[in-house]
Amino acid sequence: MSTAEPVATAGMAIRCDRVVLLYPSDEGDVAALRGIDLEVEAGEAIALLGPSGSGKSSLLALLAGLVMPSTGRVWLGDRDLGKMTGRELTRLRATSVSLVLQDPTRNLLPYASSLQNVEFAQKLGASRAKKELRPPADLLSALGLGNIGPRPAATLSGGEQQRVAIAAGVSLGPELLLLDEPTNQLDAHNRDLVLGSLLAVNRNLGTTVVCVTHDASVAAAMPRTVNIRDGMVGAEGRLGRTFAVVSRDGSIQLPDEVLEVLPPGALVRVERRANGAELFRSDPPEGG
Ligand code: ADP
Ligand code: MG
Repeated sequence: MSTAEPVATAGMAIRCDRVVLLYPSDEGDVAALRGIDLEVEAGEAIALLGPSGSGKSSLLALLAGLVMPSTGRVWLGDRDLGKMTGRELTRLRATSVSLVLQDPTRNLLPYASSLQNVEFAQKLGASRAKKELRPPADLLSALGLGNIGPRPAATLSGGEQQRVAIAAGVSLGPELLLLDEPTNQLDAHNRDLVLGSLLAVNRNLGTTVVCVTHDASVAAAMPRTVNIRDGMVGAEGRLGRTFAVVSRDGSIQLPDEVLEVLPPGALVRVERRANGAELFRSDPPEGG
């Protein structure tokens, strides 16, 4: 891989192939991810929706290049993360991929103003960025934070802190912005402002956005939702419609409303149709 990277003008594509992530523990390994297949196009904005413990943060850590899969592969653009050196990964994290952590106070310097926070984030990585960077004041106003003033970050509301963290997160012009539950503990008004900021990043800067949430109303605001259930990709939502996804091994996870009529263990007849298939619950055939 060459270290001279082109100036980023668009978002980064993502591809996960059968990604398994095991955490070793005394009672045996914990499988946080159990075969994730996922493709995200450059410039898409998606939500990863799932209950607590479903593996969302683990998947985000993989996409940030912070952990490597136990098996399977992760590509960011044309780069296979498993084939990159530690140095290349560090550089990727410094300039091309930005991770906004769940706790807003961990993303910001508490005594610095919004502008200083964005300036600082930008200065930290500017020497590595090798591209023209947007002035911090410009970024803040692009995210509707132009008039937040010189107050220290610690005195801002939770929603304002998250939006400043997003501005700082995109200050080096990353191609991929990853956010872990950015609307956690916010009221509906601030949740909408934060969502507006990350959609503005996606629309105005072209950055690919992956937003982890357990809140279906947050996911509904994103153009595409990928459900994560038990470390696997479940149904997908696009523009208000729900789809099951056929994974590479041919299996599908059924959406919740289908699981009500086809519970785990149910015997199902699968019948091919011209443009797909239908599933029918059926009882086992009676013997003799
Ligand atoms: P989510 O973000 O959806 O809540 P996580 O990715 O944090 O899910 O966790 C997925 C699973 O992996 C959970 O069962 C969790 O307990 C386990 N897990 C997460 N991090 C670790 C770790 N460092 N060591 C062991 N198990 C972990
Ligand atoms: Mg989490």
